Amino acid sequence: MHPRVPPAGAFPGFRKAALPWYKHVVTTLPQTPAQPYRGRLAPSPTGYLHLGHAKTFWTAQQRARERGGVLVLRNEDLDQARCQPRFVAALVEDLHWFGLRWQEGPDCGGPLGPYRQGERRRFYLAALDRLRAGGFVYPCGCSRQDVLRALRAPHQGEDEPIYPGTCRPTPRVQPAGADRRSAGVPAKDLPDRRAGTKPGLNWRFRVPDGETVTFVDGHEGPQVFVAGRDFGDFVVWRHDDVPAYQLAVVADDAAMAITEVVRGADLLRSTARQILLYRALGLRSPAFYHCPLLTDAAGVRLAKRHDALSLRALRARGLQPESLRNAW
Ligand SMILES: [Zn+2]
Repeated sequence: MHPRVPPAGAFPGFRKAALPWYKHVVTTLPQTPAQPYRGRLAPSPTGYLHLGHAKTFWTAQQRARERGGVLVLRNEDLDQARCQPRFVAALVEDLHWFGLRWQEGPDCGGPLGPYRQGERRRFYLAALDRLRAGGFVYPCGCSRQDVLRALRAPHQGEDEPIYPGTCRPTPRVQPAGADRRSAGVPAKDLPDRRAGTKPGLNWRFRVPDGETVTFVDGHEGPQVFVAGRDFGDFVVWRHDDVPAYQLAVVADDAAMAITEVVRGADLLRSTARQILLYRALGLRSPAFYHCPLLTDAAGVRLAKRHDALSLRALRARGLQPESLRNAW
């Protein structure tokens, strides 16, 4: 079974994957001269931006400029409970103050908008529909507490716990040589797949257990993750009817024709998940460049709670962007 073709225009920037999708080792493809560089800044308006964001964004801007490319600003405001309009205004102002400029964004428009995730629901629904049609996802009623309770070993680390498979359907037996694209669950066996966005159900991506996902990061070098060991089945659509980060960012980066994703090193493992999503959606993955994270004087990673290191506070103290950059 092949994934349904999405409505015309639903994925304007999408290109078909050039690698056979069934390759066991997945890798990102080098850029071709025909592909102009497109990078992006993707802040969430859940607080004031801090120096760590600025450093990553500055790297993104440098890489775009060095390649004569375009930089896109995308407002990642999906989490309505945590995002606030005052932080949207603040982030544009703070980024400008710091010396960042973009050629497409919510404030200046562009050909591949809208540039606010809150206005891009149709893209996420189209992506979810493709995943459902291909049998890559299944409905899951587990809460985070259910997942934690079902785990034998206590969860450690910052990444999400490996899903114990409570709601994972039994895979269909594949005849030899069958198209592994549908190696998950046949769509017809999923309960009411059209109703998938009803509140209360997560949709979870079934990872190919034991498969190695590799990619060469532009900064961190070769990366190797094993599906099912380093990460488990992950949520692509939340029970509160909001697309999960992993799905939204893949749908957006593809539709916005992003050729390189520059972001913090805390997202390396998410990149492995996202590469599986690109493949399931029949999309070519961008290149990745993960920046080291800034830490405070005590070695703690900067977060939005570090108010003293927010761009706003640094500016109020009379510090200049150039001197902040020279201190990196
Ligand atoms: Zn479940």
